[in-house]
Amino acid sequence: MLKCPVCGNPVEVPDDAMPGELIEHDCGVVLEVYRDSNGNLALRPFEGVQEDWGE
Ligand SMILES: [Zn+2]
Repeated sequence: MLKCPVCGNPVEVPDDAMPGELIEHDCGVVLEVYRDSNGNLALRPFEGVQEDWGE
């Protein structure tokens, strides 16, 4: 189980998640899945282009 780097709570990441995938966490932050230097999936806050998500 990966943890949110912002709030520290667990994040449900699909088994088939791919690097570059974006996951919106309960705390409101958007997390980007990436592969760390060990080849493991990890999460970081997404700070790319901010889109208007709408509702
Ligand atoms: Zn969070």
